[in-house]
Amino acid sequence: MAERNDLSAFWMPFTDNRGFKAHPRMFVSAKGMHYTSATGHQVLDATGGLWCVNAGHGREKIVEAIRASAGELDFAPTFQLAHPLAFEAASKLSMIMPEGLDRIFFANSGSEAVDSALKIALAYQRARGQGSRTRLIGRERGYHGVGFGGISVGGIVNNRRQFGTLLNGVDHMRHTHDLGRNAFSRGLPEHGAELADDLERIVALHGADTIAAVIVEPVAGSTGVLVPPVGYLQRLRDICDRHDILLIFDEVITAFGRVGKATAAERFGVTPDIITMAKGLTNAAVPMGAVAVRREVHDTVVDNAPAGIELFHGYTYSAHPLASTAAIATLDLYREEGLFERAIELEDYWADAIHSLKGAPHVIDCRNIGLIGGIELEPRPGAPTKRAMEIFHRAFDEGLLIRVTGDIIALSPPLILDKSHIDEIVGKLAKLLPAIG
Ligand code: PMP
Repeated sequence: MAERNDLSAFWMPFTDNRGFKAHPRMFVSAKGMHYTSATGHQVLDATGGLWCVNAGHGREKIVEAIRASAGELDFAPTFQLAHPLAFEAASKLSMIMPEGLDRIFFANSGSEAVDSALKIALAYQRARGQGSRTRLIGRERGYHGVGFGGISVGGIVNNRRQFGTLLNGVDHMRHTHDLGRNAFSRGLPEHGAELADDLERIVALHGADTIAAVIVEPVAGSTGVLVPPVGYLQRLRDICDRHDILLIFDEVITAFGRVGKATAAERFGVTPDIITMAKGLTNAAVPMGAVAVRREVHDTVVDNAPAGIELFHGYTYSAHPLASTAAIATLDLYREEGLFERAIELEDYWADAIHSLKGAPHVIDCRNIGLIGGIELEPRPGAPTKRAMEIFHRAFDEGLLIRVTGDIIALSPPLILDKSHIDEIVGKLAKLLPAIG
């Protein structure tokens, strides 16, 4: 018989299932900045769920819109048919994208958005008569979801090694993380723009006419808050332009105000050809991913196709009515509350708070941008990641949700937080750091 407290059937993703099931920690509800745990404790959400609840939990406007929409239109296909909400969501989203990236493809997650973007890049090269451009370039320590495309261009060994040979024809540039030169940088680190020249080396090795696209996260989140060095993204853009290579920004975590603008592209003043998004698009209330495509890329694929279907790609749930509704309500809410600007308003206070942990036990780096914070701990000798996991568990028990990746604490609170929440987050960490061995 199915039991609510039978923990055996659910194979949890990215989880130490045996560890969790011995000591389960669960949430049963959420409102604003807080979760309520199954044991009735309030837990301050310093991670926006998983970098996704940008407007805070349980927002009435979004919940109500979803409720009404579910009763009106549960589902409609978007293959050869459609529903108006899909167009409205795409149009609204296109309006906050950088100039020119106004064609929107919908998926259901960040991983699907990434694989869609890679396929669109390949279809584009073929459509313009450059079918030899099939190579895809990612970066060490890149996280681009868990599809085969995403783990192939991604650079995280744990996410790759269980799964065979992955995609052919993928190369990786180096990442930009450099504690030797950049430890305790506030905002953009000073050193490392020249690492973009790795792309020139890859071009020299294979020939530009074999390379379709380069994908990077403007700020890498899942691999521990890697903020781009000053000038790095522009240099990458210049090299892509020189060799006619598409540049894809994976903005699954950085879009929707996380760095103080609608996109990191806008914040850093560098416009890619394609942007992938998910998470904050619906405030995570309904799964949705999206790809914003430069109009010329879209038109090349569409105009060069023979009559009929132009792109043989899509999901049953592309632009699902509930997700479209949630996106429309969420984008309205962001605008009404000025939430994209919030990260800029709070950035200095946030940066001061994060950097106040410099000198705390085990801390070897603090970094920040927008409302993102990274605190890197020295790994426990012989037991990497254990120190961070210990602080994760202790923080939870103290009523604070953080995220850890490797030995790095990654923070990305809902953008509705105020200074007292920042004080609480950092105050709790300052108390916990000396308490772990
Ligand atoms: N790309 C980036 C940059 C991400 O941070 C994530 C998720 N953390 C993904 C893709 C994958 O998104 P999802 O888990 O929704 O598939």
